[in-house]
Amino acid sequence: MIGGKAVAAEIRERVRQEVALLAPAGIRPGLAAVRVGDDPASEIYVRNKRKACEEAGIFSEEYPLSDRISKSELLELINVLNRDPRISGILVQLPLPKHLKEGEVLEAVVPQKDVDGFHRSNIGRLTLGEPALAPCTPLGIVALLDSIKAQIAGSHAVVVGRSNIVGKPAALMLLHRNATVTICHSHTRDLPNICRSADILVAAIGRARFITGEMVKEGAIVIDVGINRLENGKIVGDVDFDAVSRRAGWITPVPGGVGPMTIAMLLSNTLLAAKIQAGVGNLGTGLGTSS
Ligand code: NDP
Repeated sequence: MIGGKAVAAEIRERVRQEVALLAPAGIRPGLAAVRVGDDPASEIYVRNKRKACEEAGIFSEEYPLSDRISKSELLELINVLNRDPRISGILVQLPLPKHLKEGEVLEAVVPQKDVDGFHRSNIGRLTLGEPALAPCTPLGIVALLDSIKAQIAGSHAVVVGRSNIVGKPAALMLLHRNATVTICHSHTRDLPNICRSADILVAAIGRARFITGEMVKEGAIVIDVGINRLENGKIVGDVDFDAVSRRAGWITPVPGGVGPMTIAMLLSNTLLAAKIQAGVGNLGTGLGTSS
């Protein structure tokens, strides 16, 4: 099993140490979390991210906003944060209420403070294989693979899911690491056979226990991104853990796999953004796209 908690703890400790080293030079990373409406899950996510910041010595502040806020008011706040020297990273917690067009809001964050890696300029750089502030969950996936020294180059990586925040960027990162990548989605024909040919299988679907034992090759590495709440309240992944763990060489659990990595990579991105803004770092020094 790949223990996401332990790998995430290591990264968070590395960030904490680097933040401490920067303090005497007057450099302090800062994260602004913008949260619109009162979605309980978003509240918990932001609280966890802020707690992680505090433990790493990263300054953070939250902007809890009414779901009646207009688009122009929200864009004005983002503009203020774009100019605020205390803030190195801006996080807009998704989902946003429908009247606030997500794409437009995410584009308003300056790319240098886009620590979620959702701005089209950062996505473009990632696509081109250039260093970028890259999305946190896919960064976490690659860091987990590196933690077990997985042979990515030359392997067949199958990514099930093609969302802009997980599937697509994860596939791009694996491609830049020289995997042969297949991206699957809801129109894919014969998914079980394609999955069975994967050396590395990434499940980012959002369907409880969708990947069964028969869909996995003996010895494969299986990364489960899914977070699904069952009717009894239990949280499970997109992978049928019990059946698949009998076949897989490595598997990530849910919870305790990719989830903790996402927060660790957010801290890492916030530190990287702060260093770049202070002129003591560049994108190439991050845990981004380069191999
Ligand atoms: P989306 O709903 O945006 O994307 C789901 C993808 O799965 C789509 O590309 C969809 O295909 C594909 N899909 C759906 N049904 C099937 C099917 N039957 N066969 C093949 N492909 C299918 O989800 P996200 O990418 O945002 O998230 C995926 C999961 O990861 C969710 O459970 C989410 O909660 C979790 N997550 C976890 C994070 C973490 O930190 N651990 C962070 C972000 C997400 P199509 O494009 O054709 O519709």
